[in-house]
Amino acid sequence: MEVSGRGGDRASENLDPPSRCIVKETLRDFFLERLYGLLPASMLDWPGRISSVLFVSGCNFRCPYCHNPELVEPQEEGGFYWSELEAFLREREGWLDGVVITGGEPTLYQDLPELCRRLKRAGLGVKLDTNGSRPEVLRCLLEKGLVDFVAMDLKTSLERYPLVVRRPFPVDLLAKRISESIRLILEWGGEHEFRCTVAPGLVEEEDLKALAALAQGGKKLVLQAFRGEKTLDPDWRGREGYPPEKLWEWARRLSSYVPVEVRGV
Ligand code: SF4
Repeated sequence: MEVSGRGGDRASENLDPPSRCIVKETLRDFFLERLYGLLPASMLDWPGRISSVLFVSGCNFRCPYCHNPELVEPQEEGGFYWSELEAFLREREGWLDGVVITGGEPTLYQDLPELCRRLKRAGLGVKLDTNGSRPEVLRCLLEKGLVDFVAMDLKTSLERYPLVVRRPFPVDLLAKRISESIRLILEWGGEHEFRCTVAPGLVEEEDLKALAALAQGGKKLVLQAFRGEKTLDPDWRGREGYPPEKLWEWARRLSSYVPVEVRGV
């Protein structure tokens, strides 16, 4: 199995495909068409676990600082058969704890529930990374017990989301969906974290306060330092992030709402 991505022609964009909550309950093989790449082993993507990381192409956001720009547009070529992936995972049985599904935005991927079900049935934990824009998919996964850990991005305060997202989502719709996803995660109560890339000009202290208030009752809010080495928007390359002292100071102030961790400094 190839480990790096096999991208090809760009598919036409669909920012908001109909959500499906279908698990096929069949033993047949099937083609995982949007899986762009696979990292065999990581100790960073799921804290405390050894995981493989699956990268799904296609995202409905266009954050200027995105550090996976090759995954923002959906790739038509590439993908794996489930049988290939299963064989790869079986070879690692015994020391692999789980699989992280990231992107891109995995909840755009129609076969996500079925993929999660198969991974769980193979005895593996499943961590989902999501931007929270598709709460109906998240609800499906949580209700069916198909994920063990959810990491949800919080971009900035809800009214400033369009500054980061840069896609034609009505601000009210986006705010409703992000709030709903946060609510679902908090009500679910399983392992989770909310993460914010603290990008200068897009996220200020007032935005962080608003986000921390939304995440109140959650297990963790992670402040990720902005890094300008690789970004979707070339204008963002080489920009400086906030100094670590500022992030630590904000983390201290926000911790009255929710436990806060600073990463990437
Ligand atoms: S940072 Fe995440 S949500 Fe934003 S464009 Fe990249 S993959 Fe999409």
